[in-house]
Amino acid sequence: MSCQTTTRCRACGKAGLKNVLNLGRQPLANGLKRKAAEREARYPLTVAVCPSCRLVQLRETVDRHVLFDRYFWVTGTSSSARAFAETFCDRAAKTAGLKQHDLVLEVASNDGTFLKPFAAKGWRVHGVDPAQNVVAQALDAGVPTWARYWDAAVAQEFLAEVGRPKLIFARNVVAHAQDLDGFIDGFRVALGPDGVGALEYHSAVSILEGLQYDSIYHEHLCYFGVRSISVVLERFGLHPFHADPSPISGGATVVVFSAKKRPESKALKALRAKEKKTGIEEVSSWVDFGRRCYAHRDASRALLAPFKRETVVGFGTSARSSTYLNFCGFGRKQVRAAIDNNPMKQGLFSPGGAIPIVSKKEGFALKPGLLFLFAWNFKKEILDECRKHGYKGRVLIPFPERPTLTAAGVSR
Ligand SMILES: [Zn+2]
Repeated sequence: MSCQTTTRCRACGKAGLKNVLNLGRQPLANGLKRKAAEREARYPLTVAVCPSCRLVQLRETVDRHVLFDRYFWVTGTSSSARAFAETFCDRAAKTAGLKQHDLVLEVASNDGTFLKPFAAKGWRVHGVDPAQNVVAQALDAGVPTWARYWDAAVAQEFLAEVGRPKLIFARNVVAHAQDLDGFIDGFRVALGPDGVGALEYHSAVSILEGLQYDSIYHEHLCYFGVRSISVVLERFGLHPFHADPSPISGGATVVVFSAKKRPESKALKALRAKEKKTGIEEVSSWVDFGRRCYAHRDASRALLAPFKRETVVGFGTSARSSTYLNFCGFGRKQVRAAIDNNPMKQGLFSPGGAIPIVSKKEGFALKPGLLFLFAWNFKKEILDECRKHGYKGRVLIPFPERPTLTAAGVSR
């Protein structure tokens, strides 16, 4: 079975999930096609909220081997991730109170980008990651890494063969964990009484406030707030005591925890209070979120409709754009081509709607009458590039909150 539907909450295990948004049958957001006519698997994509612990989550789970055995995101290729790695290392080392010879373990360590600063400062480092292709890159860079999915059994093996880590961290992956209990249990097993764990996740606050439903796709099963992540951790005897903000994905949180109860930091208390005020812990906020998403889709269609006779060219074909485009039903009929600076993607077609992916040169050669900014979170960089190419036409910016039309020459 390559897709299963859950009836119980992924965090607290209780039944009674409430559906708030049906994004339709969607292709895999990273599934670029080699041919426009290629048929791909589609899976339902439904967002629900748990009335008990308030975790926002997907109802569907697509088999992890379909999603993650080969992974195309390489951390080291992102300049913002590389820049954040140093800050992350300094903060985590301080919070965990790392001493000489301590061992640092990263779960889902990708190419080892976030372990390198720890290694450079003299700590022992080790990674675990399921994707063979990125593990090979980490090993080439001298970061010892196991190609495994993380769970309690792997944690036991790790203790026996490598040792007890003082710090274990996992960035932007807890939301991907299909066996969430096993994943967190691995932390419980591997952390000793003095050990510290840290989990980074894309905050549900930015999704609710920015109406960022484009970041919802099959890879991301959970959309945590500090309350819902605490529910999962506490079930395994792990107690959050601190939180730091992270700039990744347009608004993330790093929650820090330990097996031994420690006093909660001011930052964590402040975050709890702040999140409560945003409404992410209310079922009604998410019901309203669902309604606003349908309205956003309708507004997007209305905004694009007058450009039927124009050449519409998209910009940036991230996984994030896939959910949005397929939810709105935008394909190559509406959008002639999409520019992407990654040469590996050029010549391929977007998932679902099969929009041809082209280079910047090819895209501007089409003389677009409208530029559709799929990668809206890189708005400034992209608009600067457009101006360099002499594009002064209109630009459709779909997020955050509402789709808007602007001119490339105007900075907003
Ligand atoms: Zn729950």
